[in-house]
Amino acid sequence: MSNSHLTNLSLKQFGDLLQSKKISSVELTQMFLHRIQQYNPSINAYIALDEGKTLAQAKAADARIAAGNAAPLTGIPIAQKDIFCAKGWQTTCGSKMLANFIAPYDAHVITLFDAAGAVNLGKTNMDEFAMGSSNETSYFGGVKNPWSFDRVPGGSSGGSAAAVAARLCAAATGTDTGGSIRQPASLCGFTGLKPTYGVVSRFGMIAFASSLDQAGPMAKSAEDCALMMNVMAGFDERDSTSLNREKEDYSSALHQPLRGLRIGLPKEFFAEGLDADVGKVIENAIAEYKKLGAEIIEISLPNTGLSIPVYYVLAPAEASSNLSRYDGVRYGHRAAEYTDLMDMYCKSRAEGFGAEVKRRILIGTYVLSAGYYDAYYLKAQQIRRLIAQDFVEAFKQCDVIMGPAAPSTAFKAGEKVDDPVAMYLQDIYTISTNLAGLPGMSVPAGFSQSVDGKTLPVGLQIIGNYFDEARMLNVAHQYQQVTDWHTQAPNLNMPEGIT
Ligand code: GLN
Repeated sequence: MSNSHLTNLSLKQFGDLLQSKKISSVELTQMFLHRIQQYNPSINAYIALDEGKTLAQAKAADARIAAGNAAPLTGIPIAQKDIFCAKGWQTTCGSKMLANFIAPYDAHVITLFDAAGAVNLGKTNMDEFAMGSSNETSYFGGVKNPWSFDRVPGGSSGGSAAAVAARLCAAATGTDTGGSIRQPASLCGFTGLKPTYGVVSRFGMIAFASSLDQAGPMAKSAEDCALMMNVMAGFDERDSTSLNREKEDYSSALHQPLRGLRIGLPKEFFAEGLDADVGKVIENAIAEYKKLGAEIIEISLPNTGLSIPVYYVLAPAEASSNLSRYDGVRYGHRAAEYTDLMDMYCKSRAEGFGAEVKRRILIGTYVLSAGYYDAYYLKAQQIRRLIAQDFVEAFKQCDVIMGPAAPSTAFKAGEKVDDPVAMYLQDIYTISTNLAGLPGMSVPAGFSQSVDGKTLPVGLQIIGNYFDEARMLNVAHQYQQVTDWHTQAPNLNMPEGIT
């Protein structure tokens, strides 16, 4: 079997090969490590690699398979977003502040993948403290979109996104505070799911905006995402917002037919600001769902336009509080020279944080200050409730909501770096689900011709009601049975490029 074929396999197929001992985890891991060596210098998807640790896990997985007690992901190499603390691994969150930080413990998500016998391939690049939509705020440099190297992969989970798209891992983890799994999934052409808030533990996941942050899978297909969710989801008493629910099998509903499914199309998602090509791809996807027996209902989410302003009050407010822990005392960057304690705090933070993070800390501190709290923070919380209520009303009429995941295809690196508001608008269709705590996913739905003739992927967003992940995965999986967008991989245009 050629390498190019091997990298395109599903998680289930990798599992079958491993468990039937047609390939060992060490061989599979080495194959991915080799690809990473070959392509990562130009793509920059990984921040930290540790071959010794990775191969030790692969060896342990082979022993577990030999002993006959493998789990579905045992021996499969997974990339971890560098927001998750992993014991003994450099864990930077994309920031100079943590550039030399070695995590002393594992995030719950890492513990769960370890327990499943998955192999940690490395830590992936990301926007600094997950603030961004293009991966350009990373202290470790931008990430190339594997479909077109002059484009961004989206953000903040840009490294995981590029790694999945370029087949530099079998699957990856991401986190989504306002769209950071779904927007990169759309821009890089793979399947990503942000679960209901509270379904995946945030323990050991470096905090950005705690009431919005949620981890989820980034993989080739809905079927793969379901297997990842079976590992990642579950109650953890170390996260006070973790929900104590019965363990679910996210693969259980994949094969249900969609006849009678009511799909709501919010008119606000198809209004001004949506790229015409992206709109066409989404229309075609909806047509496919009609063929599968779904019923289409026009709905309205009237407060959609307020979601970005509300988010950019609440997320910075929470970030300003969360990031106050980086004071140069306990861990993280400390300035080399300072006169007194206050000077040490100021210099360490001035040197350790990048411009976007500073902007958010300033905004957040401002909206929480005594004189402005009522006018901004409190008001934003009230509108957040209205946004959530829009969805409650919408789900009275439909089972899932569909629309674009992002307003455009991948844009050029540098194009939006000087215009924060244009960058923030990337999340116009995703952010309201975070504010409401709802699950959302992006599914490859086709390609658009960009202005310079480059073919770039487009993602269809599926939003579900609380805890409806299994049904959303079913809705995505049925589409992936009749389309092949999710199986397409970029040709890296290098000597051993994948085709
Ligand atoms: N792009 C949004 C931001 O910059 C969302 C990022 C995220 O989901 N982590 O905050």
